[in-house]
Parts: sequence; C-alpha cells; structure tokens
Amino acid sequence: MNFLEKKICEEGVVLSPTVLKVDSFLNHQIDPLFMKQIGCEIVKRYKDEKINKILTIESSGIAPAVFAGLELDVPVVFARKKKSLTLTDGLLTSRVYSFTKQEENEISVASKFLNAGERVLIIDDFLAHGEAALGLAELVKKADAHICGFGIVIEKSFQNGRQKLLDKGYRVESIARISEMSADGITFLKSEVLST
Ligand code: 5GP
Repeated sequence: MNFLEKKICEEGVVLSPTVLKVDSFLNHQIDPLFMKQIGCEIVKRYKDEKINKILTIESSGIAPAVFAGLELDVPVVFARKKKSLTLTDGLLTSRVYSFTKQEENEISVASKFLNAGERVLIIDDFLAHGEAALGLAELVKKADAHICGFGIVIEKSFQNGRQKLLDKGYRVESIARISEMSADGITFLKSEVLST
C-alpha cells in the first residue's frame, strides 16, 4: 500500500459504495505535511513536462495544487465555482455538471491568469465522472494554453472519469486508484508511487 492508500484506509469513511469522505486530511481539515508529500508525488510524475502553471478548482484542489506549485515554483490558479464580486471582466468560463449535487454550475477563471502557450498541469482532489476535470480542461483550451495532464489525489476508478480523459488524449496520474469500496473495506488498483 502506498502512503495515500494507507491514510485512506486509516481515516477515510465510506459513506456509500460511491462516496468517500476524507475530511480529516483533504476535504475539511488539511494535513500540510501529508499534502506536501502528495504535491511532490504529482510533480515527480510530470517532471519532464516543463510545466509553468497549475490549475485547480476551489476548494479541495487548492491544498495539493499549492504544494505542487511550491515544488515546481510556478503559480497556482484556482477556478471559482461562484461568481466573485471583484471578478467581473475578462473571464474564461465553462459548465460543470456535479453528479453528487445533481446540478450544473459555471466555473470561471480570470483570463489574465491563463495565457496562450502556457503548459498547464490540472490538479484536483477526486476524479469521479470527470466533469470537473473536463470543465477545467475547457478553460485551458479557451486560453489557447497546453494541457500537460491531470494530477489527481484520489481516483474512483469504478467511475468513468479516467476513461473520458484518456479518450480525449489526456494523460492522467492518480496517487490512489480505488477499484471498489464498501463499509467492509477499500480495494485499490496498483499505482506506482515514486516517493519514498
Ligand atoms: P467528477 O466531476 O469527476 O464527477 O467529480 C469530481 C469532483 O466531485 C471533485 O472535485 C470532488 O470535489 C467531488 N467528488 C466526487 N466524488 C467524491 C467523493 O467520493 N468524495 C468527495 N469528498 N468528493 C468527491
């Protein structure tokens, strides 16, 4: 088991066969040292990609994204889920459907923070049906920037997000890949971790 899989087994709560709660280190309380390790692991996988921007989405993508940004020394931009009072002009937007909330939302980022030609790594906390990931990819495409790939903390591999991204030709790197989960336990797909 890798360091994240171990943590998920110790602290994760399986709310249903499709929903995992990890609020002790990722979704509510944040374990900074642990998040640093996650950020470094994502960066290692993309070390040859000359990334110069990281894009994530508020709020739970921000912690792993910031640590990846610290490691790479590149800016981290997070897409907003709600319209900001101060963020009105020059917006890039896309629509994201949430299966958990069963609603569609517009996400946005100021166009001045995503520029043509930039090499962007997209980071998020979970990959489920891939809707958030595809919405973020849309923002990068609208900016005429390049998507180097996705760095995902926890992938629920029994949902179709990874396949949707692969079908579009994107690279997907997930630190933990869950193949099945229930109150009795969590099963992982093999995921090679480069950190010690
Ligand atoms: P997707 O767009 O891939 O269907 O879902 C990804 C988004 O939904 C993530 O940004 C994450 O916030 C949320 N999400 C999806 N599944 C889970 C889950 O099992 N647990 C938690 N905590 N969040 C999830």
